[in-house]
Amino acid sequence: MNRPLVAILSGAGVSTDSGIPDYRGPNGLWQRDPEAEKLVTYEYYMGDPEIRRRAWLMQRKTQELRAEPNAAHRAVTELERSGVPVRVITQNVDGLHQLAGLPARKVLELHGTARAVVCTRCHERTPMEDVLARVDAGEDDPACLTCGSILKPATVMFGERLDPVVLGQAAAIAKACQVFIAVGSTLQVQPAAGLAGVAADHGARLVIVNAEPTPYDELADEVVREPIGTALPELLRQLRAGDSYSAR
Ligand code: ZN
Repeated sequence: MNRPLVAILSGAGVSTDSGIPDYRGPNGLWQRDPEAEKLVTYEYYMGDPEIRRRAWLMQRKTQELRAEPNAAHRAVTELERSGVPVRVITQNVDGLHQLAGLPARKVLELHGTARAVVCTRCHERTPMEDVLARVDAGEDDPACLTCGSILKPATVMFGERLDPVVLGQAAAIAKACQVFIAVGSTLQVQPAAGLAGVAADHGARLVIVNAEPTPYDELADEVVREPIGTALPELLRQLRAGDSYSAR
């Protein structure tokens, strides 16, 4: 018998134990400082060099590049290494699943990655570290070294569309999986939220691990409210052991 495909949708709650704040949460940056939202809004970013200067300074201070994977990231990697087919669909831009050892091809980053920079004209990608080194050296709005155009973090800004290829792959995984675990996501931001519904519609067992209620709790086969750092490893241990997780 084939082992069931497990899809894991990971949201901000998965990375809070790594010290990365939930920007959109009730105590998040956007709530405390509405001006900060402009730094990650495409129209403002492209139209105003001062916004870009502030955005690069913010990147230098951000915790994402310094953060380390936590128990939840490690548990997902362990599951994959045990031979269970796993795909991660993440709303996070911190790259911590890959840093925890999950092969990059098994991670779909819905909102892009903070670990790379992309040129807005020629689309060349550069490691974030390299561009931040230029900022440290005095370039306050570094331009693309290939074509001279505006560089931006490879994250999806407000006002930008999500990558349709990534979205298509995520939808295919939601349809094909036998178990869909939504962890640390409030399931309120589309399209990530809708993927939980797609998975359930296609017969997957839906498990939600989140401190707060989500709009999909009613649809879920199992809702876990315990802290992610302990709840997810336990859940994935059960999954590895195979108890009570056969496809419906
Ligand atoms: Zn370029």
